[in-house]
Amino acid sequence: MNNFIVMQGHTYQEEKDLGIIWSPQQDKGGNVPHSWKRMTEVKEGDRVFHYVKGNVVAISIASESCKAASKPSIMQSHNRWNDEGYLVNLEYHELDIPLNVRASFNEILPILPIKYSAFQQNGDGNQGYLYPCNEILAIKFLDLISDLNIYQVDQEQLELSIDNVRRTERNTLIPVIAETESEVKTKIRIGQQKFRKHLMPLWDHKCALCSIDLPDLLRASHSKPWKDSTNEERLDPYNGVLLCCNHDALYDKGLIAFDGQGRLHISSIIIEADYVKFNINPKMKIARYEENKHYFKWHKRNVFK
Ligand SMILES: [Zn+2]
Repeated sequence: MNNFIVMQGHTYQEEKDLGIIWSPQQDKGGNVPHSWKRMTEVKEGDRVFHYVKGNVVAISIASESCKAASKPSIMQSHNRWNDEGYLVNLEYHELDIPLNVRASFNEILPILPIKYSAFQQNGDGNQGYLYPCNEILAIKFLDLISDLNIYQVDQEQLELSIDNVRRTERNTLIPVIAETESEVKTKIRIGQQKFRKHLMPLWDHKCALCSIDLPDLLRASHSKPWKDSTNEERLDPYNGVLLCCNHDALYDKGLIAFDGQGRLHISSIIIEADYVKFNINPKMKIARYEENKHYFKWHKRNVFK
């Protein structure tokens, strides 16, 4: 199961009424924007977060995989675009209380992917149509949506005048959130277990920097983080290095990095007098594999501070 974010604006109501998302295949110039092409990746069971004017307003589940389909005739607002498009049928679940992205942006910003982010650094939504939503971002959205929407049930059930339609919609939302959360967490857990299992022997079951070998203290650290990796890269044991908790935290936060030769680089944020405390020094070098090289370089270019 994969997650996506769709940026709908004024097309939201029409598309919700039809139970679809729809994009053209090509623009007038014959170009294929990535956010339209991504429609073809949507499979039955995938989850979509619907973003409208600053808010996530609904979650939906694809009831079938993407197919080619011309623009539904009822959708007037797409007039300026080509009719040939991609269509996904979905079951919409509207939130009672929309999630304002900007209001929680300090929690969202650090987990946005570097490439193809649905949101800009200032919290605005991007112009395209369909964006990927990595599992860590999906969990964050689900947590924030639950906080806003689920605890309200008991409170409002005490009130006598409950709008029946809204109540029905809320009752379908709770299982959707719970199932999505559980599927997303399972995907992360199984992925991490596989990654660790294949990574451990590559580093002889000990920290590449300090040789700590107590399994409970060892972390399979991704070089290209989960949020930025493709499904294949997430499981590629060469996309990482085995490190103890201390060195893993330093690597994860970009305070240390390795170059293509496996030499340690230390961020200027850490003062030299502290090197001993962190058990690091600029002369350290790890025995890297050829396949580690491009992942180490990616980390050094994008995560290292
Ligand atoms: Zn270590």
